[in-house]
Amino acid sequence: MTPPAPTTPPPPPDVLVIGAGIAGLTAARALQREGLAVEVLEKSRGVGGRAATRTVHGARVDHGAQFFTARDPGFQREVDGWLRDGVARVWAEGFPSWSAAGGWRDPEAGANPRYACPGGMNALGKRLAERLAVTRGARAVAVRPSDGAWEVELEGGERRRASRVAVTAPVPQALELLSAVDLPSALRDGLEGVAYAPCFAVMAGYPYVPAPAWPGVRLPDHPDLAWIANDGAKRDAGGGGTVLVLHATADFTRRRYDDPPGAVVADLLRAASAVVPGAERPAWTDHQRWRYALAMTPHPERALLAAEGLVLCGDGFGGESGGRLESAYLSGLAAAALLGEVAD
Ligand SMILES: Cc1cc2nc3c(=O)[nH]c(=O)nc-3n(C[C@H](O)[C@H](O)[C@H](O)COP(=O)(O)OP(=O)(O)OC[C@H]3O[C@@H](n4cnc5c(N)ncnc54)[C@H](O)[C@@H]3O)c2cc1C
Repeated sequence: MTPPAPTTPPPPPDVLVIGAGIAGLTAARALQREGLAVEVLEKSRGVGGRAATRTVHGARVDHGAQFFTARDPGFQREVDGWLRDGVARVWAEGFPSWSAAGGWRDPEAGANPRYACPGGMNALGKRLAERLAVTRGARAVAVRPSDGAWEVELEGGERRRASRVAVTAPVPQALELLSAVDLPSALRDGLEGVAYAPCFAVMAGYPYVPAPAWPGVRLPDHPDLAWIANDGAKRDAGGGGTVLVLHATADFTRRRYDDPPGAVVADLLRAASAVVPGAERPAWTDHQRWRYALAMTPHPERALLAAEGLVLCGDGFGGESGGRLESAYLSGLAAAALLGEVAD
């Protein structure tokens, strides 16, 4: 019997991208288009990061990013492709708001289109990940310099090497990964200034209740609730009743982050019932706690070259226009431009 031929391990990639959110996938795709071999390492089982969708009781529900806007012409061109292919569509032209004192207010006139995905927001991640090598369930625990290149250590001890690395995790998590990297103190201080608001999200289903007439409603003055989405209005299938997504305010989330989730969900549903009568009696619920939901003080650069061959990017970058899905995309492109210029 002939012994099996020895298997040769695949050559190390030119670039390792940590995180398969919008920023990481956009960076990876741009670098691969330049002819570089790219591997994306993603700790979870899915792609898209905070552009996240879950199937609950048969319903697709967006529990992270609710919609996105396009202000940059380049991003608009990408969005036009998604619209053409049915990955995304216009969901709303602005949202009404509600307050206990003033009641309902109409959406502002002439608002930018708000786009959403009929199949769920994670369709964007799936689309961007087409033709990319994404290793799921691969949690990076450290990035360190190693003989003129970079080594990424994964949970479980495996080590990967590449001459270029892009770190796309929310900045506080990125800094933990880089604790063995000697970053200049001004650069580290700038990164430590990037703060995120947390968000407790509730998904709730009401199979026999007709859906509200609005796509979503903002609650600008509410102490506990910031937003309610009529999530089912994003989907094609009608008649499935109502699915609401509630987002708590950052203050409420900070106060209640470690409380038993059942009590937090009940309190948020009770708060929502002032806006949507009967909201406190769903047939099912689910929830998600986002520790780093929205970047509140993004770094002024679009992406940051922290050392030769090491870039940080994501929605925590981009100054005033940071903190959104579009900024994650633009930051990914900026990271690819910085890494593409790095010579081996
Ligand atoms: C509740 C909520 C509501 C939002 N609403 C909106 C909205 O309506 N409109 C809008 O434009 N934006 C919204 N956003 C923000 C939007 O989702 C983000 O700006 C955007 O998705 C960020 O993309 P990113 O690639 O920078 O980061 P992420 O999506 O966080 O991607 C980072 C990826 O890295 C992975 N990762 C992290 N650490 C590691 C590690 N150690 N090893 C391997 N992988 C790792 C993560 O699992 C994740 O997949 C919302 C976000 C939340 C949470």
